[in-house]
Amino acid sequence: DLSPVRRALISVSDKTGLVDLGKALEGMGIEILSTGGSAKALRDAGVAVKDVSEVTNFPEMMDGRVKTLHPMVHGGLLALRDNDDHVAAMNEHGIGAIDLLVVNLYPFEAALARGADYDEMIENIDIGGPAMIRAAAKNHGFVTTIVDVEDYGALLDELKTNDGATTYAFRQRQAQIAYARTGAYDAAVSGWMAGAIGEAAPRRRVVAGELKQVMRYGENPHQDAAFYVDGSAREGVATAVQHQGKELSYNNINDTDAAFELVAEFDPADGPAVAVIKHANPSGVARGATLLDAYKKAFDCDRTSAFGGIVALNQPLDADTAREITQIFTEVVIAPGASDEAKEIFAAKKNLRLLTTAGLPDPLIGSQTIRQVAGGYLFQNKDNGHIGLDDLKVVTKKAPTDEQLKDLLFAWKVAKHVKSNAIVYVKDGATVGVGAGQMSRLDSSTIAATKAGRMAAELGLSESPAIGSAVASDAFFPFPDGLLEAAAAGATCVIQPGGSMRDDEVIKAADEAGLAMVFTGMRHFRH
Ligand code: 5GP
Repeated sequence: DLSPVRRALISVSDKTGLVDLGKALEGMGIEILSTGGSAKALRDAGVAVKDVSEVTNFPEMMDGRVKTLHPMVHGGLLALRDNDDHVAAMNEHGIGAIDLLVVNLYPFEAALARGADYDEMIENIDIGGPAMIRAAAKNHGFVTTIVDVEDYGALLDELKTNDGATTYAFRQRQAQIAYARTGAYDAAVSGWMAGAIGEAAPRRRVVAGELKQVMRYGENPHQDAAFYVDGSAREGVATAVQHQGKELSYNNINDTDAAFELVAEFDPADGPAVAVIKHANPSGVARGATLLDAYKKAFDCDRTSAFGGIVALNQPLDADTAREITQIFTEVVIAPGASDEAKEIFAAKKNLRLLTTAGLPDPLIGSQTIRQVAGGYLFQNKDNGHIGLDDLKVVTKKAPTDEQLKDLLFAWKVAKHVKSNAIVYVKDGATVGVGAGQMSRLDSSTIAATKAGRMAAELGLSESPAIGSAVASDAFFPFPDGLLEAAAAGATCVIQPGGSMRDDEVIKAADEAGLAMVFTGMRHFRH
């Protein structure tokens, strides 16, 4: 099953490692064909190459749109070497076999990530590259296809081990990788176009991504797992730079994403905000006069749960906050930047991962979320719904004060990022009780109140911080009971979507309890 490599075609946009690869192939006596930019880079480094245009007898044209789309290339890639007819056709037309294809595609995903305009995106759709990759990979019985700079080393090892040939197993593996690449590439193009068209419903979508990381294991140690990126987010856990600590685990990535998406709801222009996440739910979220102040308040909401948590900041990490974070065990910190001093402080904590990005995720951006079910995927537009003061409708006799309105909107933003049923108590710009993921809204209400009681005990407060708090519910109260539970815990104002058949009953109960209540008209289920 060995297939000798005598002639290679190299056409790469990412020129990383190109010269070393070219020299090594040349050293093995392999003839190299190449396209414009790749040929120039090789030639400049002293590697002998033949231009593809010389082989096709056609110039590269139309700004490179047509370079390799020619029977002299595709015949050389697709011909079955053991088929008499194919060999006769090669001889008749003077087509030389191409045994090795090294291609990486126009950087479409990179253009997407930097927000290139429509015309630039179009020019970044590679045509000849995918055509060659698909051809070579189809003919993996004879041809070796390399689509990733990372595989150059493995290719050279393979050729050395087998005296300038490759094994079937190697070619087959690389063919599988090749189709994953072209599939992900077209998925990125299609996904981008759907966004550009601005269609309301996600129809005719294909889900694919590029492998970024293979994890030690998944949600549990007996599950295999990997992280794929699709270039759809400019800022987030997929694009963050890790400065220290072990590789992120499956759960780390999931929780870090939840943390950063949540904290990004809080505009840095309005001051620092911090979220602490456990199992994808916030144990605490707070604003503060300083980042340190915000961190302390977020931490204080639930000190027990914050242990081993993920911390997300809406501003660059500073030294004071870094010092405070190192006081307890924290898994990951993610922030839009970090000062050198903060990085030095973290360096002493080897297990703590620090991730930084250039900026915050945009909570208003229209992207998609995917959930897998047995036999398929559920695809939906991301919950980028946003509620401002003008959207609120006061439904009780009492109207909330300006201070209460601030806490209500704060609680609402947090509730959007808490698993349903979500109940969130907030006082003075900090959560004081979070009830998440319960099967009944009443239970979430009770748990949030219980947590506020525990917070009082942990901090040695004389009374529950839920007294005088604002409470948010991610969906309407179907009955007055959950609302009355919140009133009993000490909440004085309520924010919820409204829209229940029993709204009248709920409003009446709120009035009787002396609560101020506003409706948002928008629900934030999160499952
Ligand atoms: P180079 O820098 O060598 O001029 O161009 C390399 C890039 O061109 C590679 O990313 C390769 O996929 C792409 N490419 C090769 N042939 C064609 C073609 O016929 N049409 C288009 N649009 N791109 C091609």
